[in-house]
Amino acid sequence: MDDPRNAPARRANVVVIGGGNGGLSVAGRLRRAGVTDIVVVEPQTDHYYKPLFSHVAGGTARASQTVRPQADVTPRGVEWVQDAVASVQPDADQVTLGRGKRLQYEHLIVAAGIRQDWDAVPGLPAAMLSPAGASNYLFDLAAKASPLLRDLRRGTVVFVQPPGPASCAGAAQKPMYQACAYWQRAGVLADIRVVLLVPDPTIFGIPAIDAELDRMIAEYGIEVHTDARVTEIDAERRSLIFTTGTTGHAQSLDYDALLVEPPQSAPPFIAASGLAGPDSAGFVDVDVRTLRHARFRNVWALGDAAATTNSKSGGALRTQTKVLAQNLVAVLRGREPRARYDGYGVCPFTVSRSTAVFAEFDDERRLTPTLWRTSYRESRLNWIIDRYVFPQVYWHLILQGRA
Ligand SMILES: Cc1cc2nc3c(=O)[nH]c(=O)nc-3n(C[C@H](O)[C@H](O)[C@H](O)COP(=O)(O)OP(=O)(O)OC[C@H]3O[C@@H](n4cnc5c(N)ncnc54)[C@H](O)[C@@H]3O)c2cc1C
Repeated sequence: MDDPRNAPARRANVVVIGGGNGGLSVAGRLRRAGVTDIVVVEPQTDHYYKPLFSHVAGGTARASQTVRPQADVTPRGVEWVQDAVASVQPDADQVTLGRGKRLQYEHLIVAAGIRQDWDAVPGLPAAMLSPAGASNYLFDLAAKASPLLRDLRRGTVVFVQPPGPASCAGAAQKPMYQACAYWQRAGVLADIRVVLLVPDPTIFGIPAIDAELDRMIAEYGIEVHTDARVTEIDAERRSLIFTTGTTGHAQSLDYDALLVEPPQSAPPFIAASGLAGPDSAGFVDVDVRTLRHARFRNVWALGDAAATTNSKSGGALRTQTKVLAQNLVAVLRGREPRARYDGYGVCPFTVSRSTAVFAEFDDERRLTPTLWRTSYRESRLNWIIDRYVFPQVYWHLILQGRA
């Protein structure tokens, strides 16, 4: 068989690394703006709407509602290459794919998301394979979480939010509130010790949101440990060790069910390709307002893979894709990139099985509600939007670059 490394490189106007939320959405926007010859490199056969994983784990959505074939959601007029990028050679305007094939670009957009580091905590992989372990951060584990939480009638359940960069960090808490509401209605909440381990000094870090969440925590009787990090899990004994505070005081905790959001970090190929910066923790070193690379003028990045200062979320991408597409089109037409990203991000918290709180905020953690002024308060309407409206907007508008 011919070695793909010897084949001449295919040249495209725009190569997008990653066909997730940001990659497809920005490709769709560029196509609609008249840009042609756009190639999206994405290894996965299926595309997931990840915000709904939390509803699956919490028992208010089915796993099948979160997934569609990648081929069906790739915007019309955009070419999908099913492969993974192994490395980028930014000085040669080239990417090398996993099977050795090369692609040359006029402009490159990095939208490769964030990596889930399941091996970062000793014992975590074994815990996830055991009957008592689950997570809303992976399709299969979210489906496993739903019956695990539903069938619990007594004992201890532990929810873990990790330190460090994360995709919608607060999502660790969503199935917890939904499960508590379920146990409350079933009359068993008093028999279940619910423990939440969070890495920060408060539950979220914005006073108005902390107040809403703390009210729910008090109502459900959740035991919260702040400044906490899990250092070790023993799946066989169903116990874990976690430390708290600056002293690193260690405590052990036995559990009957464990829901973990994994530690996360930048995909390694970014730093290995020279696209990270000295302070970007391995994420793509972009101007946080224009989303253009700090050194390579034809490289751009957005979403979870970019070293922007916002909270990483799909909501942030609704603004970022617009800004990046406008700026790239301007550059293609010989103009200056003038659009600016304002650092907007969002974390919708489902706080029961029928209400939600929208934490909408900028990169200085100031509230920036876009739906209505009090969207940060618990409401039924927030829940309807999060559970029913957003998924439809995602599949039909966002992925096509229409919203
Ligand atoms: C459980 C969970 C709940 C969430 N809830 C919410 C929410 O309620 N609201 C909200 O706004 N956001 C939420 N988010 C965050 C949101 O899903 C992400 O911020 C968003 O998906 C980021 O988009 P992205 O394109 O940067 O990355 P992704 O959507 O993760 O896409 C990255 C793509 O790149 C591909 N890729 C990776 N490496 C390579 C490579 N080397 N070569 C080619 N392709 C590659 C991957 O296969 C993937 O398809 C949640 C996330 C999770 C995990």
